[in-house]
Amino acid sequence: PKIHTQEFDTAVFKGKAEFNTGLFIDGKWVDGSDGKTIDVINPTTGKTVVQVSLGSPKDVDKAVAAARKAFETVWGTKTPGFERSHLLFKLAELMEQHSDRLAALEALDNGKTFGWAKGTDVAFATNTIRYYAGWADKNHGQTIETTDDKLGYTRHEPVGVVGQIIPWNFPLLMLSWKLGPALATGNTIVLKPSEFTPLTALYMTTLINEAGFPPGVVNIVNGYGQDVGQTIAEHLDIDKIAFTGSTLVGRKIMEAAARTNLKNVTLELGGKSPNVIFDDADLDEAVNWAAHGIFWNHGQACCAGSRIFVHEKIYDEFLKRFVAKTKSIKVGDPFEHDSYQGPQVSQQQYDRIMSYIDSGKEQGATVTLGGKRVGNEGYFIEPTIFTDTRPDMKIVQEEIFGPVGVVIKFHDDEDVIRQANETVYGLAAAVFSRDVTRALSVAHRLHAGTTWVNCANMLHPQIPFGGFKQSGIGRELGEYALANYTNVKAVHVNLGHKI
Ligand code: NAD
Repeated sequence: PKIHTQEFDTAVFKGKAEFNTGLFIDGKWVDGSDGKTIDVINPTTGKTVVQVSLGSPKDVDKAVAAARKAFETVWGTKTPGFERSHLLFKLAELMEQHSDRLAALEALDNGKTFGWAKGTDVAFATNTIRYYAGWADKNHGQTIETTDDKLGYTRHEPVGVVGQIIPWNFPLLMLSWKLGPALATGNTIVLKPSEFTPLTALYMTTLINEAGFPPGVVNIVNGYGQDVGQTIAEHLDIDKIAFTGSTLVGRKIMEAAARTNLKNVTLELGGKSPNVIFDDADLDEAVNWAAHGIFWNHGQACCAGSRIFVHEKIYDEFLKRFVAKTKSIKVGDPFEHDSYQGPQVSQQQYDRIMSYIDSGKEQGATVTLGGKRVGNEGYFIEPTIFTDTRPDMKIVQEEIFGPVGVVIKFHDDEDVIRQANETVYGLAAAVFSRDVTRALSVAHRLHAGTTWVNCANMLHPQIPFGGFKQSGIGRELGEYALANYTNVKAVHVNLGHKI
């Protein structure tokens, strides 16, 4: 096994930090079978931080074999729920102890600020593992009354070996949303982190071993989507796949599952979420939440409130205050304590976002604020506001996944409901109004898996999250996520019925 020792130039690591950068298969760290590595780039500088092992389809096969063996011999129904619970609680405790390092790795690898990484990503990820630790011994079947000579009951059995593929925008958080419910319900796992942000997943492998999970229960194969990801999606010995990422790749995952063994599929995909601000809203609060809605995590949130609809009566005043609020956002080094926005994750994303900004200009929208690069090193982009858009423009229709919002005037409730729902996505929506009847009735008519009233981007381990329409299939978080990872078995017991 290869142990890379890396000197991190951050206040948190203060010198050498040792963690393993190999693939994690059957409880051990191994090099990729092709011996290749991938460079992990720090988006603040554009320079390589460390190299990690690159997996291949052969490594997926090894990881699946380890996961199958663990499922059949030590995990699944072999480890009672209360023991799985105990291990998950232990893992959450270790995450808490290592929260500074996890947050620093996230800032280094993804570019999000250390403060947000620690306060939100790491804290929420830890709470998610802890929340599912609580479920591990509480997910029972039912006894179903039918006739006197029949005993009917159900069992919630683990699905088996689960493939999980996650994106780069919340590397640790997405990992926790995947591991928590899958482990609580007794499945074994082959997980692929994003090739752009593997570091926290790799750091977690040490904590997983330290917590005492048996070898093979969690396997992590770092690698690219088109080979490692595709192999997971097609694998005949994987019983279920859970994917978070773009709608484009979600489609490929579903096709691959359909073509091979019809494995169970859950998808958390993209969004173009509307944020509706009525004339009776608390304006300052609406401005603050709207800024958080679109600029949080540098706009790299699947649920980002990227289409901001404002009632015509308050449009000018809203825009004035929204521009002032956006100007106050400090873009800078993720490790500086007053930075709100760090760099975008990669050169590819930087280029993609800039090309959307160009397309907005070319199609005739007005750049009211921002639109340019910040500095000349790394992938920093100014928080950007577009106005004077038309519904057919690319910046109104497509997910930009960057700090770019469009502000659109609307006339009345029916008009805004129609415009808000005019999208292929249905992940989230927000409504701002002091009138509870109006706010709730509009929230109910928006086609989205999550609707926020007088807030945005609020997420909790207890509350389910997932998409309508092309934003996904299935729900993560909350009790609802347990169903993704269990098969219901119905048992009929004859208590004397003769045929
Ligand atoms: P992506 O779809 O490009 O990649 C996601 C993951 O899929 C990565 O690990 C990638 O390596 C892998 N992958 C790529 N091609 C593959 C293939 N052919 N087969 C199997 N795996 C493959 O997405 P991204 O750029 O990493 O992330 C951004 C996207 O994720 C956005 O669209 C965003 O909205 C979405 N997202 C959704 C949620 C949600 O909960 N709904 C949360 C976070 C991000």
